[in-house]
Amino acid sequence: SGAAILRRQRVRESAARTYARSFPIVPVRAGGMTVEGADGRRYLDCLSGAGTLALGHNHPVVLEAIRRTLDSGAPLHLLDLATAEKDDFTTTLLGSLPAAVADGSRVHFCGPAGTDAVEAALKLMQTATGRRGALAFTGAYHGMTAGALAVTGNVGVKSPLPSGGEVTRLPYPYAYRCPFGVGPQGAELSVAYVERLLDDPAGGVVPPAAMILEVVQGEGGVVPAPDGWLREMRRITAERGIPLIVDEVQTGVGRTGAMWAVEHSGIVPDAMVLSKAIGGSLPLAVVVYREEYDGWQPGAHTGTFRGNTLAMAAGAATLRYVAANGLAERAALLGAGMTARLGALKDRLPAVGDVRGRGLMLGLELVDPAAGPDSCGAHPADPALAARVRAACLQRGLIVELGGRHDAVLRLLPPLTITDEQVEAVLDRLADAIEASV
Ligand code: PMP
Repeated sequence: SGAAILRRQRVRESAARTYARSFPIVPVRAGGMTVEGADGRRYLDCLSGAGTLALGHNHPVVLEAIRRTLDSGAPLHLLDLATAEKDDFTTTLLGSLPAAVADGSRVHFCGPAGTDAVEAALKLMQTATGRRGALAFTGAYHGMTAGALAVTGNVGVKSPLPSGGEVTRLPYPYAYRCPFGVGPQGAELSVAYVERLLDDPAGGVVPPAAMILEVVQGEGGVVPAPDGWLREMRRITAERGIPLIVDEVQTGVGRTGAMWAVEHSGIVPDAMVLSKAIGGSLPLAVVVYREEYDGWQPGAHTGTFRGNTLAMAAGAATLRYVAANGLAERAALLGAGMTARLGALKDRLPAVGDVRGRGLMLGLELVDPAAGPDSCGAHPADPALAARVRAACLQRGLIVELGGRHDAVLRLLPPLTITDEQVEAVLDRLADAIEASV
């Protein structure tokens, strides 16, 4: 039974794996946005495998691509030999990127997770520049391996292992609690801070191999960076010969209302790190980088699982479906509508401190209005309330995950295929859950 499976998992699996602890359900079936538990209950899934399922669960186009590949007799695993599936995926991926990013770029299959691609990108730029350090941002999340952890902002999750290469942490423009002041002015001042720090001979910054950033921080609490700020980071790094790595592991494949989040600002990174949705629900991770940075000798960065045939077939089908059906545009439209409705909820409920996001990557920061505001005018985050709301959502058949510095941000990452009726159901259940929990 479901309860017995949950009990066994609790005993056998490490406590470091926590999803089953937050969501005590045993999914037996899923389709689109719906997950059915062993107890027969149905849930609307706003977690989507942490943003992986651009088309929701078991989309027919994805299943058909997997079945076709299986039936074709194509080799499922052949290290990184050239195959028609890899060729098709690479062509489709490059074709989906802005021309300014794709032209003159190479694709490096890493794998199988996002964190592997982050490692590869950092190492690539260390090799190309002969430097070791990195510039990274407060609130950033890039993965759980040593290099990726080194550039992750939340030291609470850091492994005790040495992470190598000095990392200079810079302020991300988190408008709601910006140390430089709220709104556009805070972002502007943070640009000035970054520039002065880098140019200060006594600023303590070790010349970096790269700057790495997310266009919208996901795990960091759904924090979008203003387009102007991103363009300034591109200018600052270009002027100083610092390669810019953009981590689009979570923001890619239509999620933010553009196929790739860099399209909003028009910045052209030196490397882009991609994973999650590019595998169409199967594990796949790549770095796309400007060919002038390709200083690697043959064999410099290898690995057994680099480009899984089924993931490439499922990923290519997903990329084509998102483009052909205008799902990025739909994400922009639905996201704007949901943001407006959530904004009205914020006006009604003081515990909803901030509503933000881009496209179908949305966050609600829950606060304690009874406690006085901080120097930014924001009330303190309320993680206990957020945990109650997550549980109340689950009771109402809605799966939402938490994120942010204090785990007080409700994160909504529905599939891009969410229907208008499902949008209504999500908003209704969420509002009801918050009202019942404050
Ligand atoms: N970068 C970003 C922006 C992410 O959101 C994540 C995962 N949440 C990662 C990297 C790491 O990916 P993975 O969990 O597949 O290693």
